[in-house]
Amino acid sequence: MFENLQEKLIKTFKSISGKGRISEKNIKEAVRQVKLSLLEADVNFKVVKEFIKDVQEKALGEDVLGSFTPDQQFIKIVRDELIKVLGEKNIPLSLSSKPAKIMMVGLQGSGKTTTAAKLAARFKKEGKKVLLVAADVYRPAAIDQLIQLGRQIDIPVFVGDRKNPIKIVAEAMDDAVKNVVDIVIFDTAGRLHVDERMMDELKEIAGQLEPDEILMVVDAMTGQDAVNSAKAFNEALELTGFVVTKLDGDARGGVILSIRHVTGKPVKFIGISEKIDGLEPFFPDRVAGRILGMGDVLSLIDKIQQNVDMEKAKKLEEKFAKNKFDLEDFLEQLRQIKKMGSIGDLMEMIPGVPKEVDLSSGEKNLKRTEAIISSMTKAERRNPKIINYSRKLRIAKGSGANLTEVNKVLKSYDQMKAMMKAMNSKKSKFSKLFKGL
Ligand code: GDP
Repeated sequence: MFENLQEKLIKTFKSISGKGRISEKNIKEAVRQVKLSLLEADVNFKVVKEFIKDVQEKALGEDVLGSFTPDQQFIKIVRDELIKVLGEKNIPLSLSSKPAKIMMVGLQGSGKTTTAAKLAARFKKEGKKVLLVAADVYRPAAIDQLIQLGRQIDIPVFVGDRKNPIKIVAEAMDDAVKNVVDIVIFDTAGRLHVDERMMDELKEIAGQLEPDEILMVVDAMTGQDAVNSAKAFNEALELTGFVVTKLDGDARGGVILSIRHVTGKPVKFIGISEKIDGLEPFFPDRVAGRILGMGDVLSLIDKIQQNVDMEKAKKLEEKFAKNKFDLEDFLEQLRQIKKMGSIGDLMEMIPGVPKEVDLSSGEKNLKRTEAIISSMTKAERRNPKIINYSRKLRIAKGSGANLTEVNKVLKSYDQMKAMMKAMNSKKSKFSKLFKGL
């Protein structure tokens, strides 16, 4: 799902990577590309317009955080806006009546009957007693399809007289109360297009039933048509949410980005396969991550932002630039890394890192290094040159390490320092070169 949109956005992000900082000029082009990608993904143009406005404002207004490259920062802004458009957080079903009533509505072929069964199966797994009601008396095969699905998941299906949906609904409720059912799911009539008679019937059922949830099922493959019918249904009925189906196909995904903005109602579930278990609660942040194809890298960025003291990070960077990075700073850096959790957890957030990589030795090293540096005096950390043999022995003893390990830490600090020097002199050469242009 979202492959096309994802591909286009990634291309856009690449175009600003390598740029020194976010500037008005490179943002304009990137924003234009994001706009085209969204329109091409069939996102409603009004939604795109607002989205773009917000991204642009944020991208230009935000300070570039020291540790992020401009493309990373831009991706984060786009991600945050995506989440906003998608609805910030998951809105669960609100089922307070006993029995709770869910009315499924939607156009024919949207996946209404299948989704009713998928939901029923989910509730059953949670230990709930469920009843499915076949109230779609117009599509010839709908009732038999529901009976078959019910059999497959071992959930009873109430059929009634197969003709009068109002009567079916009333009888089904009597049946549900008698059998102490927890949740009743009504599969109502769908038509090929929105028409008045259908709406009147649905309104009548809703009036009689007073459902806890009226969920409209929309087919992602039908793009803007789905958004238009969602609008019409929402005006006629008090919808409580949407289920967007067939996101596993080559749907361009625009529906999911438009629907909440256009109707003000949340997407509660998404359909991701024809199978009974192909239904997921809708989590805006996860879907935004999927759209961007970034997996959890974005959560990693969040984590860094929450845990790393940006002021301190900036100071460290400055010290680095001046070759003044001492063991005191090294220790500070180690502590910041540790604050973010175990290395294993962090690595898991990076796509492509095989799960079987053993990171425990790295973690042990990190702890050992911290212990060794902590056993030094402040004067030693500021000026490691003074660490002679007897000081080394004391540090080793204090940290529970051996002499070789202490030497190793000092050696890696020396190497780091040499690297820093080389980098800085290269940088100055480069900057001189550019000044001459
Ligand atoms: P209804 O007329 O709205 O009741 O639609 P159905 O439940 O009969 O679904 C129409 C078709 O869409 C069926 O072939 C379903 O298997 C299929 N379908 C429903 N949901 C999904 C989904 O999330 N993914 C895919 N790939 N197919 C789905």
